[in-house]
Amino acid sequence: MTGMTSPADSPAGQAAAAARELYKQDDYVQALQDLSHDELRDRMSETVALEKVAIQEWLDSGDCYVISHAGKLHLPTCDSMQRFMDRDSAWFTNLRFPQRLQGDAPDDDPIPAWPILRTRTQIEALSSYTPCPLCAPMPVPPEARFGAKQWTHLHARNLKSKHFGTEFRSADGSILGALTKITTVETIDGLDFTAEFEHAEAPITDPDIELMYRTGMRALANQALS
Ligand SMILES: [Zn+2]
Repeated sequence: MTGMTSPADSPAGQAAAAARELYKQDDYVQALQDLSHDELRDRMSETVALEKVAIQEWLDSGDCYVISHAGKLHLPTCDSMQRFMDRDSAWFTNLRFPQRLQGDAPDDDPIPAWPILRTRTQIEALSSYTPCPLCAPMPVPPEARFGAKQWTHLHARNLKSKHFGTEFRSADGSILGALTKITTVETIDGLDFTAEFEHAEAPITDPDIELMYRTGMRALANQALS
């Protein structure tokens, strides 16, 4: 898992991150103290240019989202994210007052925050998220959120003894728990079907209900951890 504030792992993203990292290095910050304001602006403009390439490359890469520092999911176009996404705005105060980088107030970090950029795939891998009510990012369908490729879907009627102990979820993703018992009773009206699960409030009696479980050994290992 990469750090929550890391930019895209593209060359442009890495170049921008490296440029930002310089401002955390004592010798670099020390060297800035001797520059004129115009020279300082030139240094910052180089950083801003790298950041803008990284942001644009990110936007061009497809479906992308921004997670705010409060944890909400936004579209990159959301008004509330512009002070992070628009790097000219983010650096505006520093470019106007370059002496901010020459002060000796070590706990006042003048370097503007970098947005938390995420791809659709990364968002889909999250177990939950809170969408921003302003920009209303595209809701991710539950099947996709749980990673459709990692799940096997089946109807309750196809449950077999080999599924005992397997952790099931209903099609909307809610947890049923391990399958513990299947009963099929032949009656004069047809078959009476019951499937019991460890954490289900009631047994499932509709054989047409769709269920799902994680596929593959790696998935099982992940499930044990979650
Ligand atoms: Zn938003």
